[in-house]
Amino acid sequence: MGCLFPIQVMEEKVIPVRVAIRCRPLVPRELAEGCEPCISFVPGEPQIIVGTEKAFTFDYVFDPATEQEEVFNVTVAPLLRGIFNGYNATVLAYGQTGSGKTYTMGGTYTTTQDDNEVGVIPRVIHHLFNGISQRSETEFVLKVSYLEIYNEEIIDLLCNSKDRLVLSIREDAKEGIKVAGLTEKTVCTAEDMVRCLEMGNSSRSVGSTAMNAVSSRSHAIFTISVEQKRGAQRDSYCCGKFHLVDLAGSERQKKTKAEGDRLKEGININRGLLSLGNVISALGEDSGKKNHIPYRDSKLTRMLQDSLGGNSHTLMVACISPADANLEETANSLRYADRARKIKNKPIVNQD
Ligand code: ADP
Repeated sequence: MGCLFPIQVMEEKVIPVRVAIRCRPLVPRELAEGCEPCISFVPGEPQIIVGTEKAFTFDYVFDPATEQEEVFNVTVAPLLRGIFNGYNATVLAYGQTGSGKTYTMGGTYTTTQDDNEVGVIPRVIHHLFNGISQRSETEFVLKVSYLEIYNEEIIDLLCNSKDRLVLSIREDAKEGIKVAGLTEKTVCTAEDMVRCLEMGNSSRSVGSTAMNAVSSRSHAIFTISVEQKRGAQRDSYCCGKFHLVDLAGSERQKKTKAEGDRLKEGININRGLLSLGNVISALGEDSGKKNHIPYRDSKLTRMLQDSLGGNSHTLMVACISPADANLEETANSLRYADRARKIKNKPIVNQD
């Protein structure tokens, strides 16, 4: 059951991982503390300057005035078009705690909010159902799953049980990376899908640190699987997966005054981000030789195996604060994001 649809984008030899930088405005706390902006932008260029000298160029750079709709239209809407053509897609939100990852992804800002505030995930849901309504010749089956990686354990966020189920990853020759026993809910409407998102959000692990009282200390992956069947016999089949990932805060531990369990969490969270950084570096250095890519070093990198170096259209949105107090973390985030720009994925459509 390979994808039998006509795929126009098949000519692409490789698909580069795209990287967007989003700088949020100064927040009231930073203004009250007298923070000054330490980031500047080059008009008309996707360039960002940190402090007085260091300039970085990315695929997209969004300044603090950029609205949610523009971020979505420029960076994520093309990925959604790919999903209808049988590609997989991944959006990764990266950055220190408080830099705007959750705001950008819209994990906790769903359709009930002011329209301007609605972030990436609810917009993906809305546009997906719009696209489906324009393709009456195709039969769609949509499923969602939502998981969290917390202290190197995978937790099912859509499980109805009060006990948080800890799951394991297995590699299936046919389907690739699978989480054994993960709840997959079949959904028929945008409202159902948003409800799944909200249900999962209410189960997420939140901890309080010195940096942000409600910062999420885990990686969260919301996955929409889009199966399409066409033809008189419905024998032309295609399945694309859209992973929407809100990564844990990238800050180093000393700044968060973490202790005890919180420190253990920090170490495990950073193990995921550290491994992700190593995978990104190894993929970026790949010059055609078969380089060892250390996907197996963490749960996060195993889960993202297809998204980085695999058959996915992938976007990393690195969120940053403009405040001078965060200059060091911001420069670290930009360096991390800069390495991700070197990755080239392989444009194979889902096939078995
Ligand atoms: P993170 O998920 O990275 O910890 P949040 O998304 O919670 O950070 O953002 C921290 C604060 O900054 C929140 O109060 C959020 O509303 C605000 N914020 C983030 N990005 C923006 C933006 N682009 N425009 C306006 N406010 C923002």
